[in-house]
Amino acid sequence: MRYNAQAQTESLYIHWPFCPYKCHFCPFVALAGQDAHMGRYHESIKKELIRFSEEQVNPVPLKTIYIGGGTPSTWPDELLLDTFDTLKHTFDMRSISEITIEANPGTVRLEQIAVWQKAGITRISVGVQSLNDVVLQNLNRKQSAAQVRQLIQQLAGNFSSVSIDIIIGLPGVSDQEWRELIHELISWPIQHVSMYFLSVHEGTPLYFRVARSQITLPPDDETVDLYYWSVATLASGGFEQYETSSFARPGWASQHNQVYWDRKPFKGVGIGAWSFDGEARIQNEKNIQIYMQAQEDGRDVICSAELVTEEAARLETLMLGLRRNKGVLISDVIEGLTEERQQLFFSRLEALEEKKLIQKEGQKIKLTPMSLALENEVSAHLSV
Ligand code: SF4
Repeated sequence: MRYNAQAQTESLYIHWPFCPYKCHFCPFVALAGQDAHMGRYHESIKKELIRFSEEQVNPVPLKTIYIGGGTPSTWPDELLLDTFDTLKHTFDMRSISEITIEANPGTVRLEQIAVWQKAGITRISVGVQSLNDVVLQNLNRKQSAAQVRQLIQQLAGNFSSVSIDIIIGLPGVSDQEWRELIHELISWPIQHVSMYFLSVHEGTPLYFRVARSQITLPPDDETVDLYYWSVATLASGGFEQYETSSFARPGWASQHNQVYWDRKPFKGVGIGAWSFDGEARIQNEKNIQIYMQAQEDGRDVICSAELVTEEAARLETLMLGLRRNKGVLISDVIEGLTEERQQLFFSRLEALEEKKLIQKEGQKIKLTPMSLALENEVSAHLSV
């Protein structure tokens, strides 16, 4: 299966997998200790970008680019600028409105800021996660609160938008520390916050340490309470929630993420990167050696591809839509359902409304403040 060359692609995701260390909770395609491959991998990325562009029926007018990882702030300056040269010569960049790069504290040099500006990067996403140095170091994340604060100040005013990622429910972070973090970040010169619940992914060192009772996770109900407190506190600090994990000062919602939530096509480049052409979800090969060899041979190499069935598309629309503040059109989530299934949907919807777990706004439905952390349960109940 190949990416549909006729898809109306306006967004690119580029994966830079190199990291200076491997965090114990990390589920991503991330490589520590393999920096020697950076140059060859960079050339492979360029090859994939060029081949993708040449295969498209129409020129690709890009609106958003997201460079994720891994730790893209380890991308050497001259190689990063070279990639942007390729992008500018390969794609129509006249309508570009957002280019994001992820950066981790402790990996950014002051002179990189000018390089990113020169490249045209508009948005920096900083991996903060926590300000508790001991907790982070126990999870093999080698950054300090001092580096976080320094980086935020260095970035301020140099880019249209600075976003931070934080993780709620990290073992060892007290409620008090978490509340202090939320209060502090409200005072930072940033435009966006992504707040994720800690997920313990099978196969990660964190998973094994939890399984062996070497680490105890905070109770779910306490974490959920803290989440609700954070939502309210961020709102009073000027950060509007526009998705269950996403908060922005007015006008600074992530444009790239909305492409994912709108189920619009996007092309992923690099190892393990996902693409969606409107009909199929396709993932690139995760093994860097196999990937680089394939690019040098002039071919794509994928590790999974799945046509999204009508049923699956409906479920995706429901799940992604409920998470958003603007909700999802009822007509979009019942389209194609038999009369009988529609009846079942509406009776379940009514029951959820009575329990105040769903709210209706005109022709749309969305989660309520009470069900923000129950998205999976509500979606499952409405998938008739
Ligand atoms: S820095 Fe990010 S991508 Fe790298 S190992 Fe840690 S969590 Fe994973």
